[in-house]
Amino acid sequence: MIYSIEDYDCYAAFVNRESWNPSKFRMLPTIDDSRRASFHFLHLGQRIIRIIMKITAVSVIGAGTMGNGIAHVFAQNGFKVSIIDVSLAQLDKAVANISKNFDRQIAKGTATEEQKKTALANISVSSNIGEGVKDAELIVEAATENVELKLSIFEQMDKLSPKEAILATNTSSISITKIAAATGRAGKVIGMHFMNPVPVMKLVEIINGYATTKEVTETIVELSKQLGKIPCVVNDYPGFIANRILMPMINEAIYSLYEGVAGVQEIDTVMKLGMAHPMGPLQLADFIGLDVCHSILNVLHDGFGNPKYAPCPLLVNMVTAGRLGAKSGEGFYTYVAGSKELVVSDRFK
Ligand code: NAD
Repeated sequence: MIYSIEDYDCYAAFVNRESWNPSKFRMLPTIDDSRRASFHFLHLGQRIIRIIMKITAVSVIGAGTMGNGIAHVFAQNGFKVSIIDVSLAQLDKAVANISKNFDRQIAKGTATEEQKKTALANISVSSNIGEGVKDAELIVEAATENVELKLSIFEQMDKLSPKEAILATNTSSISITKIAAATGRAGKVIGMHFMNPVPVMKLVEIINGYATTKEVTETIVELSKQLGKIPCVVNDYPGFIANRILMPMINEAIYSLYEGVAGVQEIDTVMKLGMAHPMGPLQLADFIGLDVCHSILNVLHDGFGNPKYAPCPLLVNMVTAGRLGAKSGEGFYTYVAGSKELVVSDRFK
């Protein structure tokens, strides 16, 4: 594993016992494991501010909506990417989606044919986790949002990947500290919460677990910037920041509909025109998936033990009835393939 040192002055003065000499800057851009002990000493002495792992090989576990977007941005930025999924069909679909999304970027002038070719050549796929993570320096897990599944995947990631690798999760709501406890390297486990659609959305919410080291956080912050994203570091409490604030707003919008305060269109219009939100909360809930909103609200409710987070009974009913939003064809609005028209569901007319 290669580390790059940003405080070269300290490097020259304290490792080599020399005064700062600009020519050393060029000679000493990286260190390897054999020099690591000296850096721990310097780190403890608080002389080196930033030790950043240099990452070139990334594995992404889960080839669904988020996994293929995450793989796309890493490959586009020159990283070697291995995508892993239990479903071969999902792996094929992910590569086809990445290619299609590149075509969209090329049409808009934000990528070139050459970049597409290079990025696709950087991607490999596997349905075997051991094979897919064996050379990883960073693994980003983006599999289905289920606690037991994620704990089991992290146990395997820990056993099968190089011991220096950072293990990140794209979870929307599951505790990073809990996931980290399933591994023998809690200091190297971190939340890397990308937003959907990944190639378009700028934010990466970076979540420190209880044991995440400063070195790992700084590495992931720098890496996010390398991807052209804007990182925001937060701590590990239920819902982190994004969903802790977003989900109660969505739940309140659903309560307003449930209590007959206003209709679907009125609620969304007030928030779009009055608060300059690009999308109303009910349309956004449909887009995220009502089952996902329901499960995140349950995480907030269980985690804080506060009734204010309890999912609205209307949301519970809709999820039970399979009205999950855009992905099921109906939520607060109805969705017809190929049509962009926003039509309120008959149930709410
Ligand atoms: P998805 O259902 O589209 O994809 C999940 C993928 O995980 C599927 O392809 C499935 O085959 C795969 N998978 C399941 N078990 C696996 C295993 N054992 N090993 C490897 N792959 C496995 O889900 P998604 O929307 O991409 O969400 C993935 C993660 O990202 C979740 O944790 C979710 O909370 C989070 N997230 C989602 C969004 C969003 O808007 N969809 C936004 C931010 C974060």
